[in-house]
Amino acid sequence: MMYKGHRRRIDPDARRALWEDQNRRCGYCGRKIGFSEVTVDHIIPLSRGGPDCGENMICSCRPCNEFKRNRTIEEFRAAVQSSSFNLMQREPEYRAVLRFGLIREYRRKRVKFYFETKQDRVERKTGKGQK
Ligand SMILES: [Zn+2]
Repeated sequence: MMYKGHRRRIDPDARRALWEDQNRRCGYCGRKIGFSEVTVDHIIPLSRGGPDCGENMICSCRPCNEFKRNRTIEEFRAAVQSSSFNLMQREPEYRAVLRFGLIREYRRKRVKFYFETKQDRVERKTGKGQK
């Protein structure tokens, strides 16, 4: 990775604080993760001009971090949404249960990342963003 030299090392205390701040959950999928599973991701990738500071950092599980790679949030959202749909479309059993009306498709459902739901709660609590 050519931008590796610009990456600041994140000390364990900062990593822990980030993890605690996210309620010990992955900032993207929201699942509970142990401290040893924590990876620190830049919301706006460094390779895309994102700053190497706390505001741009999020703790995430390794699978989410690897899936996101150097995508922006909106690119990651689009990738998550389309990949779930594409994977399911390939499965004959999925298409069958869909035909029989046993499941419904949530093709248009917008993926919401955990850190975004958390932001909403903070804003509701503080009244920030309300008029
Ligand atoms: Zn995750």
